[in-house]
This record gives sequence, structure tokens and C-alpha cells, in this order.
Amino acid sequence: MSVVDLALPWRNTFTAELPADPVEENGLRQVEGAAFSRVKPTPVRSPQLVAHSPEVAELLGLSPTQMTEPAMVEALAGNRVLPGMDPHAMNYGGHQFGHWAGQLGDGRAIALGELMTTSGISQTLQLKGAGSTPYSRRADGRAVLRSSIREYLCSEAMHALGVPTTRALSLVETGEQVIRDMFYDGHPEPEPGAIVCRVAPSFIRLGNFELPASRGELEVLQRLADYTIRHHFGHLQSAESPNRDTYVEFFDQVCQTTASLMVEWMRVGFVHGVMNTDNLSVHGITIDYGPYGWLEDFDPGWTPNTTDAHMKRYQYGNQPGIGQWNLVRFANALYPLIDDAVPLQEALDRYVEVFTTGHRESWGRKLGLGYVSVDDDGLIQELADVLQAAETDMTIFCRRLAQVDLDTLPDSAIPSELLDAYYRTDELSPEPVARVTAWLRRYAARVADARPQHRRDLMNSANPKYVLRNYIAQVVIDAATEGDYSVLEEVHDVLRRPYDEQPDRQRWAEKRPEWARSRPGCSMLSCSS
Ligand code: AMP
Ligand code: MG
Repeated sequence: MSVVDLALPWRNTFTAELPADPVEENGLRQVEGAAFSRVKPTPVRSPQLVAHSPEVAELLGLSPTQMTEPAMVEALAGNRVLPGMDPHAMNYGGHQFGHWAGQLGDGRAIALGELMTTSGISQTLQLKGAGSTPYSRRADGRAVLRSSIREYLCSEAMHALGVPTTRALSLVETGEQVIRDMFYDGHPEPEPGAIVCRVAPSFIRLGNFELPASRGELEVLQRLADYTIRHHFGHLQSAESPNRDTYVEFFDQVCQTTASLMVEWMRVGFVHGVMNTDNLSVHGITIDYGPYGWLEDFDPGWTPNTTDAHMKRYQYGNQPGIGQWNLVRFANALYPLIDDAVPLQEALDRYVEVFTTGHRESWGRKLGLGYVSVDDDGLIQELADVLQAAETDMTIFCRRLAQVDLDTLPDSAIPSELLDAYYRTDELSPEPVARVTAWLRRYAARVADARPQHRRDLMNSANPKYVLRNYIAQVVIDAATEGDYSVLEEVHDVLRRPYDEQPDRQRWAEKRPEWARSRPGCSMLSCSS
């Protein structure tokens, strides 16, 4: 009998209030008229808790002893269902790469239940990689260690950057191998398997609404909308008995939070990589870390996702537009509840406004401009061009810009503080140098009246020094694969304070080394995870 108390305040509003799949066995099927299927995680051979986030544990009211208690580790591996949990896979559809894909659902994610937190807000815990579900299609329901490490670290890094995101509670190695063809090139290999426990207010996606709408299941659609509003948008008027106006307000809120999320991704240089409608949350939080990446050299056309290499649909510069495209699909799904396109269109127009204003303000902070107006758009746009004049590291350039002495700008040279941002100094011929220096002069004139320290402080709060560079994730993965998790702990710790200088951690702020330019996992990733 365990001495550590694992009686936790679980509630299960999602499974209690929404229609369930009547079939409880775990075969592949089309699940109609239901929002979820009850399904048990498949046990793994020898689970080991290799990392956990104390911050997320605290958020959930889980003590350090509870976290490492063997029964808890078993629960986080899917080997044990704790009393009060109600494991289930959610049913949703989605537009993948611009095309309606029909039913998708949680093929390898199993929600355990909702845990009441000390703040009075419940959080859903979900295991990713815990075995097959009725939605696993042709795949195994498992996840590999490399992608689990990427999800675990990036969730926590994004949170520390101030970007809305799902969180990661734990990382468990399963002790089992998973077969993956990493680049879909006919070379499947066994890899270590792992399970991340992710945490979010809910895992409801745009695609949860699209599926019942596509099938004409209006009752499921309405119950899902009412449920979501009641539990997660309770601040909306008439949330208790939603009507047409409430659905419009709900849609409008999702538009606005998604616009704000796009502002944040653009600010920190995050490229999601698979912005399908099933990978967008109604909470406006980042969800589903797959082949994501971080901009190194500033290239709006860059995508880390090799699966999207030809279309580049989800490249960095397209993200705000794709966000809106996805919201149009969401509008179509909610339309039967509203029956009027005008307010939906108005909300979509507001998406553009919220993004445009937010993006301007965000780059205003990045440049330390203080108050910004449309008059600053030229300066901001020109910076995007200047960053492409030669291969320039966005993160280093923006961070170092705060250190440049704008009173003594060199005439025809890059200020020394910025040189580190350039990948190839041999590219710095007179033409790009002239463009950079001309921009710097324009910038210096714009901020001439700002107090230098005030400007620097503002910039340092918007330009992280440390982000989860693609190669850094790979360095962590390489060490973990050898059984060394100290690198993961160190990187996690650096990323807790991404805006602090942390001078003794400088090595994690370096630009991508040459070896990483074309190494798989560093600049090229596939959906195979
Ligand atoms: P993603 O693009 O990773 O968000 O996944 C798209 C769909 O494929 C979702 O329905 C996933 O649940 C499903 N899926 C992805 N990987 C697996 C896997 N290894 N096993 C089962 N289903 C998967
Ligand atoms: Mg997904």
C-alpha cells in the first residue's frame, strides 16, 4: 500500500456532458454521433520517468513526492488508470494541407481526465503516444523519443517566452522500440519510444467542430459548442444558455486569440509546420508540436517540414494568413448554429485588424519604439528586407540591436555588436552592408528621442536571447539517446529565463553551427514522429 496519497480531484465534464461513442472496444472505425470514445492506454514494458516539469506539477497541485511515486509514473506511462480518471480519445476532423480529410481524431493521444487546480481552473491531462485508439488509422498510436523530447521542451520554452501553449508535465521512456521511417524514404528503423503527458485547459480543436458539421450532426455540434462555451468561455454573456449571439461571440474570441497567437509566433520566430485545422486549438494556444522549427536565418519562406517542402504552405511568412484560412473553415462549421454570414465575416475582418495592430506593436517592442503607428510600418517592413540582404540570424540580430550605440554608427560597416548575427561574413559585400547601415540610420533617427535604457529594456523583454534552436533540440536528443538527460535539464533550465542574459550559458545562444545546416532533425523534419 502506497504511503503517498494519489487521490486527486479529477472531474470529467467532457465525458460526462458530451455524447460518447457507444462502442468501448478499441477497433478502427468511423465514430458517428459522438464527441469521443472511451479507450484505455496500452501498457508499456518498462516505463521510466526521465523528466518532468516542476512548474507544471505545481500548477496541478502535484507535490514532488507525488510526481515520482511509482503509481504516478505508471499512470504517466499509461500502465495504470488512477481512480477518478476517465481515459478517452477525442473525435475530430480537419483540413490537412488545404483539403478536407474527414475523421481524424486522437490517434495516439489519450486524455486521462480533468484535474482541478488550486486556482480553480481545471486542466486536462493527455498522454501522447500511449497506444492505439479507434482513430489510429494505419498507425501504431506510439511516439518516438526524439519527437517527445521536442514536444516536452518546446512547450515549456514557449510558455517561458510568454507564448500561449499547451504545457508538458512529464516525459516517460517506455522501454519499447517504435519503428519509424523518418523521411518516408523506405528506411524504417527501430527507435526508442516515449510518452509525454501534456496539459491544457482542453484539447478542443477547430476540427472538433468541423467533423459533426460536415456530417450534418447538428445536435453534436451544438452540444459541443455549448459545452465549450459553458466551461471555457464562461465570461461570454449568456454562457449558461448560449444563443446565436453567444456563438458569434465565441467565434469572435477564437479569431482574436488566434490572431494574438500568430503575433507571438512571428515575434519569436516560431514555425509550427503543420497548421492543419485539427492542429489549432479553440483556446488560441499552440498545440501539437510536430515538425516545428525556429527561424535561424530570417527567411519568411522557410518551413522545417519536409512533408510540405514543395508547397511550403506552412512557411513562416504564411502563418497569419493560414490562421485566417483555418478560421474560415471554423466559421463554416459554426454557421448552422448562427445562420448568418455577416457577423462571422465581421469577426474574420477583426482577425486581420487584431493581427495587424498586434504585429505592429510587437515589432514596435522588438525595436524599442514605444508608441507605434502606421507610420512605422515602413521601418518595420524594411527591416524584414534588410534581414534578408544577407543570411542573418533573426534572434541574434534583434537581441544585439539593443546594444548598438546609435550615436556612433559606422558609415559603411556593420556595427560590431551585430556581426555575430551573420552566417557568412563573406556575403557582406558593399551592397548588403549599405542596406543594413541605411536602415540603421533610419532607425536611429526614429528612436532619437527615446531614453536609451528604456529602449533597451523594452527590446530585451521582446527579443529573447535563448530559443529552442533546431540544433539545440537535436543536441539534447543525441545525449538522451545515450541515456544522458543532464543536457535536457540544462537546456530546460536556460529556457526558463529566455530574456535574461545568463552570461555563463552563452553557448546556448550561439547561432546554428555549420554541421547543423543540413543534418536531419536540425533543419529538416517530417511528420514521422
Ligand atoms: P498530426 O499531423 O501529427 O497532428 O496527426 C494527424 C492525425 O494522425 C491525427 O489524427 C493523429 O492522431 C494521427 N496520428 C499521427 N501519428 C500517429 C500515430 N503514430 N499513431 C496513430 N495516429 C497517429
Ligand atoms: Mg495533430
